[in-house]
Parts: sequence; C-alpha cells; structure tokens
Amino acid sequence: MTLDVQQDPGPRATSDPRPGISGLDPALLARWFTDRGEPAYRARQVSDAIWSGATDSLDAVLTLPSALRAPLAEEMRFDTLADTEVLVTDGGETEKGLHRLSDGALVESVLMHYPARARSRERHTLCISSQAGCAVGCPFCATGELGFTRDLETAEILDQVRHAARRLHVDGRRLTNIVFMGMGEPLLNLDRVLAAVEALNDPKRFGLGARHITISTSGVVPGIRRLTALGPQFTLAVSLHAARDALRDVLVPLNRRWPIVEVVTAAREHAVATGRRISYEVTMIGGVNDTDIDALAMADLLRGDHAHVNLIPMNPVAHTPWQASPMAVIDAFASTLRDAGIETTIRHNRGQEIGAACGQLAAERAGEPSAPTVARRRALLVTASAAALRGERSREPAPDGVGE
Ligand code: SAH
Ligand code: SF4
Repeated sequence: MTLDVQQDPGPRATSDPRPGISGLDPALLARWFTDRGEPAYRARQVSDAIWSGATDSLDAVLTLPSALRAPLAEEMRFDTLADTEVLVTDGGETEKGLHRLSDGALVESVLMHYPARARSRERHTLCISSQAGCAVGCPFCATGELGFTRDLETAEILDQVRHAARRLHVDGRRLTNIVFMGMGEPLLNLDRVLAAVEALNDPKRFGLGARHITISTSGVVPGIRRLTALGPQFTLAVSLHAARDALRDVLVPLNRRWPIVEVVTAAREHAVATGRRISYEVTMIGGVNDTDIDALAMADLLRGDHAHVNLIPMNPVAHTPWQASPMAVIDAFASTLRDAGIETTIRHNRGQEIGAACGQLAAERAGEPSAPTVARRRALLVTASAAALRGERSREPAPDGVGE
C-alpha cells in the first residue's frame, strides 16, 4: 500500500537569509551590539520589545537609536512571518492564523480562548506548527496529506507565538498555554523546537512556565529518549490512535519504524524519569479504530500506567473516506478505558468550520489533487483499514525521512 506521501528531496533554505531576531541566542544578540562598540544592554532593549507583545516592527522600538535600527534590520528580521491571515470562528473563541513564510511556505497556528469556569481561570491556548508539512503522512491528517516541505527555523516557530501574543495584548490578555500540535512532527525538528521552548520558558524572554507547554509526537522514539534525558521540561503528548500494530501501521506510518511497544516503553520511561504523566491522544475514526476490540487492546496496553488518554473525534478531512466516530461509541470507548483505571477525557473539536485540525487550510490552499488521485487514495485507505481490522500488518516500509 502507498499512502500518497509527496516527499520533497530535503529542506530548502528560506528565501530571506537574515535570521529572525526572536530565534537568536541572547548572547549572540548582545555580541552584535558589543562588536559595534555599543553597550550590551541594547540587546536587552531589543529583546524586551520582541517579547513585549506591544511592538510589531523594529521602527517602533523607540528605546533603540534610529542609527542602530537600520543596520540591525539589514542583518536580522524582526518578524519571520511575511503575512498572516486570521480567521475567527466559534463566536470568537477560536482564531486560526494562516502564516506565509518568506519562501512562500504556509503554516498554521490556532488560538483557542476558554472562559473561566468554577475551578479554572480563563485560558488562552495556542497550537503552533514546527514544520511546513509533515513526512509522517498520517492519512487522517490534512498536514500528512500535504507531505513534507521543510523544517521551520526557531524564529518561525516563535513568531507564531509572538503574533498571537500581540493579538491578545490589545485586550490586556496573555497566552496561558502553548501546544506543539500544529503542522509537523516536532521531534523530527527537535533542535529548533528545543531552542524555541528555551526562549518560551526564559523569564527574560517569553516567560511561560514549562508546565504550560506541551509537545505532541507521533512516536519518534529517539526524540522521546532525548527529552527524557533532559528531565522534566514540559508535558509530553503521544499520538497513539491505536493499540494494535496492524492498525497503527496504517494510521501512523512511522509505526513501521517504531512499533507500539517501543513507543509506549519510551513514554513510560519518560513518565518515570520526569514524574510527569504522559498524555495519549487518540483521534476517533468511525469504524476504523473505535471498535470494542480496540478499546480493550488500549485498556490492556495502558493499564497501570501514569497516563491520561484524550479521545478526539476526527475532524473531517477532505479526500479521506473516514468520519468521526459517533459520540455514543466514543463514550463507550472511554468507559472501557476508565474501567481499566485509565484516566480518560473526551475533547471536543474547536473551529471545525475553519478547518482547525491543523494543516487543513494550508491543504486547501495547496490546491485540489486530481479526481483519480483522490479516488485511489480513498480506495487504498478503505482496503488498508479493512486489512488492519483483520489484523494483517502492512508490508510497506516506514516513510522516508523519519528514521535515522
Ligand atoms: N505530529 C505531531 C503533532 C502535530 S499533530 C503528532 O502527530 O502528534 C497534533 C494532533 O492532531 C495529533 O494528535 C493528531 O493525531 C491530531 N490530528 C491530526 N489530524 C486530525 C484530524 N483530522 N482530526 C482530529 N485530530 C487530528
Ligand atoms: Fe504529521 Fe502529526 Fe499529521 Fe501525523 S498527525 S501527519 S505526525 S502532523
């Protein structure tokens, strides 16, 4: 079976060679000034402006003499997002940002506002992208359908956060949570993701507590091990989707490289080493991964673990033959997990009408594949999921670019 992954030969350079200031190590920024005979505190002025939420251009950094602004702008970009289109839905509770990067690549972020409840304060959660496209190619995911374009630079990751922070700042609000659940596989761009997390965490830069940052992975085992070695940094979410390899081979093609037992073992080691609970994500697809057999297999797999399972009804994605599981089926699945002592919640999708499953807008903008391509893809998925339900494992190799 082929999953129609359109693979680029490798990462392309961004067309604007100037680094984004937000992604720069603070020591390097300070050196830029001291090399020019300027005091190092100038770097702090720029950094404060970058992270303040109030400033959207270098010209507005009035603390910096104008004679320094021009040479700085020549060598660095204040913002790596060339253009952003914001679409608002859910009565203003969900805002989707479609960002164009300097080479024309499109990435998405989603800002979700949650009102205060009896036991929780008001929250503003931003879902950000770590890559343009994704090489993993999960067939229910709009980003997977796009294929891989390139890794994002650290500044391109951070500037999605700055964009949302500026929008919130206008109303005197702040981001409370950041999740790497947008486009791309964060653990396949881990150096830049870690540099971004460091900036987000740093009290002198964005200053968001590690507990408020979640990184989601489709199961890149060496990446999970690297995070474990770093110690408790943030919440790890693992996109599980199925507890049987035959089915997970289809739903998350890198399962052919790192099967379920390896992923769950690495996740358990992470939980033990960091004392932090693992979050498992399961996208619920009607008739595909929501059967009683699947619920029991997941209950057996996770019984006794320090884990939390989030069941998410699948957001309909064009060109797949699949739909979300009915609510009653999701409830029954949740009961099976809870009966096994596994903490389980059901997450309701936000922003379906503007395609809040990240990648959907970008996929639409990428243009329609031909009708025969769509028909072939649908037929392959139906055959593949039927084979998986019979327990037959895929003989296809893992997608290119996900192993090492
Ligand atoms: N690549 C990483 C992080 C980005 S995807 C990962 O897979 O974990 C973030 C989450 O969105 C994943 O749990 C993914 O399974 C989920 N997702 C993707 N497409 C979806 C869809 N159509 N409906 C619901 N959830 C989806
Ligand atoms: Fe990539 Fe995650 Fe989408 Fe799978 S679900 S294709 S890993 S972004």
